[in-house]
Amino acid sequence: MTTALLKHPIGKTYPIVSHGKGVFLYDVEGKDYIDGSSGAMTANIGHGVEEIADVMRKQASEVAFAFFNQFSNKPAEDLATKLASLAPGNLNWVSFVNSGSEASEYAIRLVLNYWRSKGLSRKVKILGRHTSYHGVTMGAVSMSGHATRRADYGPLLHPFPVVPPAYAYRYAGDLSEADYARKCAQDWEDALLREGIDTVAAVIVEPIVGAAGGVLMPPAGYFTMLREICDRLGVLLIMDEVITGLGRTGAWFASIGEGIVPDIITTGKGTSAGYAPMAAIIVHEHIIETLRQNSAAPPYGHTFSGNPVGAAVSLAVLNYVEREKLLENANLRGEELKAGLEAFSQRYSHMVDVRGRGLLWGFEFVMDRASRRAPDESRNTSATFVADCFDNGLIVYPAGVPPLNNAVIISPPLIISGDEVQELLRRLDTALATMDGRID
Ligand code: PLP
Repeated sequence: MTTALLKHPIGKTYPIVSHGKGVFLYDVEGKDYIDGSSGAMTANIGHGVEEIADVMRKQASEVAFAFFNQFSNKPAEDLATKLASLAPGNLNWVSFVNSGSEASEYAIRLVLNYWRSKGLSRKVKILGRHTSYHGVTMGAVSMSGHATRRADYGPLLHPFPVVPPAYAYRYAGDLSEADYARKCAQDWEDALLREGIDTVAAVIVEPIVGAAGGVLMPPAGYFTMLREICDRLGVLLIMDEVITGLGRTGAWFASIGEGIVPDIITTGKGTSAGYAPMAAIIVHEHIIETLRQNSAAPPYGHTFSGNPVGAAVSLAVLNYVEREKLLENANLRGEELKAGLEAFSQRYSHMVDVRGRGLLWGFEFVMDRASRRAPDESRNTSATFVADCFDNGLIVYPAGVPPLNNAVIISPPLIISGDEVQELLRRLDTALATMDGRID
């Protein structure tokens, strides 16, 4: 097979993609793949949508670039208005960046500016959780509880995150969901007090943990308790909705489903559904009001911040999600996917803990159900399974932080049809049978 040489200098090669249509991608040899993970939980409206390409062309021919510190532009203004209208509560100030990692970086700088403007410049720490991922740049990876992605940069990073994840399958033990939620919230309060709240600026959490955990669902009530703790202790709450934002969970934002209004939401991936590099920080008006009152500026942007083409594309993508009722489709197809995954979990004894919402689903492989012991790290279980699926024409996403590299994410485009869900399940079935044999 023709492979790309651009990526991994050691070992790994990739087929060269030729084109995409709907939920399918095709390589240059003509093989088709169901994009069962939307790439990296990104391609929300699927591939090859002509009307988005038309918007891109039209915008590029009108104005492709105008520097954010010299001009605003209409698509960026309209996109900001759209995002503010979709976000919960009074999150109505928006800034644009080009990736989820940059959104994390911006959030760090913004919360520091906020506290400094109030005369509290000692508040600089941002607490995160073990088993989390907020991006690959230095600040973002510093906040991430992802040992592998931190590994090579240790001396430059802030300390490893201090708060345990909400990960019921592994850590709830005999606790009820309500008691486990209380315990996880208490972990936050303990950590904040231990670190010293006069030094903590913010906490950052993924509403549903993605790549680091394989779709870890929060116990009911957990985020309301975390919101209350942050308010009581004077700490800002950043929700990293880079995966969950803009439709993936069958709602515009997972924070809405959790019934909370964060201080800051970060987005990426689904913001443009992959048609352009585009990400956003959506900020509560109280933060902007404080900066304004203290004559403090929000952080500086990037050369490409609010790029007119990216903004026009994102706006068209969000309008497409709305017009085609893709949140509703995500919930309907999500139920079918869940039913199929649960049936597999009955059949394949090593596949456990089907978990998710909307079109964001995950599960784990274990050696045996009773002990819940994960396969040994050296087996590279999730990567091996992903490779089996790939051979079989299905793209799924590996998840979990070693030693728990045993989880998988299924997150197809939100446009997926009922028949395509069944085809995805058929291709998954073949790979599950292979994996069952590998583990026995
Ligand atoms: N936050 C979360 C939850 C993510 O999953 C990711 C990427 O996977 C990021 C941030 C970083 O986004 P990007 O890869 O666009 O920099």
